[in-house]
Amino acid sequence: MSTQNYLNYIAGHWVPASDGATTKNINPANTDEVVGEFALGGRADAARAVEAAAKAFPGWANMPMPKRGDILNKAANLFEARANDIAEALTREEGKTLAESKGEVARGASLLRYYAGETMQPIGEVYPSVSPTTFLYAERVPLGVVALITPWNFPVAIPTWKVAPALAYGNTVVLKPAELTPLTAWHLVDVLEKAGLPPGVLNLLVGRGSQAGQELVENPLVKAISFTGSNEVGARIAAQATVRGAKVQLEMGGKNPVVVLADADLGKAVEITIAGAMLSTGQKCTATSRVVVQREVINEFRDRLTERAKSLKIGDGMKPDTYMGPLVSAEAEKTVLSYIELGKKEGARLLTGGEKLRGGEYDRGYFVAPTVFDQLTPEMRIAQEEIFGPVVGMIEAKDFDEAVRLANHTKFGLSASIVTRDLGLAMRFIREIEAGIVHINSQTAGAEPQVPFGGFKGSSSGSREQGKVAREFFTQIKTVYMDPP
Ligand code: NAP
Ligand code: MG
Repeated sequence: MSTQNYLNYIAGHWVPASDGATTKNINPANTDEVVGEFALGGRADAARAVEAAAKAFPGWANMPMPKRGDILNKAANLFEARANDIAEALTREEGKTLAESKGEVARGASLLRYYAGETMQPIGEVYPSVSPTTFLYAERVPLGVVALITPWNFPVAIPTWKVAPALAYGNTVVLKPAELTPLTAWHLVDVLEKAGLPPGVLNLLVGRGSQAGQELVENPLVKAISFTGSNEVGARIAAQATVRGAKVQLEMGGKNPVVVLADADLGKAVEITIAGAMLSTGQKCTATSRVVVQREVINEFRDRLTERAKSLKIGDGMKPDTYMGPLVSAEAEKTVLSYIELGKKEGARLLTGGEKLRGGEYDRGYFVAPTVFDQLTPEMRIAQEEIFGPVVGMIEAKDFDEAVRLANHTKFGLSASIVTRDLGLAMRFIREIEAGIVHINSQTAGAEPQVPFGGFKGSSSGSREQGKVAREFFTQIKTVYMDPP
């Protein structure tokens, strides 16, 4: 099978990189398979994409908002019509199971539709004025060119939840997806082009973070940057972009806990922990990474969790019975395996997993066994740092108060869950847990498109994505005092 070539989309044209550079998109479940070869844009290409977006801005900002919504609606239809192709592309380039990919693609279509709907909603407010003749109102207007920098782990959902509101509210966009997963972003841009976006309104720039991404951070024509990814890169982007006056939004890592109280349905607690920790191979910002378990039930919970982790079917995500696919890259595999070694050295007890899987199909991909530790202490690095793999660690707590203290003992604050039948304690958990997303008797992962999404503490710069709240970032407010001539 010959490798298909994909180009960047700048100023309404599909173009190669100006220096001809390309990058191979490799299937992490079978590294012999090249999913596609992509133009790899550099700084000059990024600057060109920004200029194209700047040129397209006045026309797009002046298009009536519901007309912009029509284009998003059309794109949602086209997106759904090729949902199977996009889901397959997602599994082949990122590794998650086809069932998860289908869910993510369906969510992408809902996001396009949701923001199409937002284009029919009020975008301002009329205020009473102290003057009898003054018409006083505040309206939301676009920012200009926005750069969207996205990670590889949700390469459909995250670009869509940034692109759709950015466009709906009248901004023009340069999208820089992660170099590891450009094919799904290519589909998103392709359907938006076919839905009728004018040239330059949305530009696709596949390129390295350190090159193409860096240009977007520094270019003075870029008025705002919405970034999702690691804390390390996020902090650097914020430092560089805020000093030049750009608006910055950061959604970053997590170290998300499940608290299991003594009264919990332990079967349910195990399912919640396994789903949160192992689906998408643990590579979700909202993945469960710590389980804080009340002393009375820790032995039984440990045995059942270990048993369940051992039973999971690991393999190529394209196969229907696979529960967990590979890690996304050799680098990710190396990091995860090194955290497992670190956990053992730090004195945590390895209950199952802990190694790279070998033999047969496993030799062609980045497969690591579902891994469970117990006897974590709160200061261990494996209890503090984001591992981003199929690794979960148990921490013992004597009671509810200690469990919440331990759950909060992290620099992150994205999502958290509690499993209990006690409504009073569940309500105290909601009050006391330091997390932007709280689950009661459900897994730490999962996000519906109509509600705010984002974290507390080090997980976020404080703004929120998705739902109506997305307009806080993607618009600015103009207050108008209007009097008769
Ligand atoms: P990453 O390494 O920080 O990369 C994120 C994006 O930033 C990629 O597109 C990357 O490009 C780009 N980038 C890297 N260096 C850059 C620079 N100097 N200037 C501009 N852009 C730059 O993160 P990742 O490994 O892709 O994703 C995993 C992380 O994302 C985890 O920490 C996870 O928790 C977090 N995440 C958070 C959320 C959330 O909503 N809170 C959701 C999903 C994931 P290249 O990769 O092409 O170099
Ligand atoms: Mg990376």
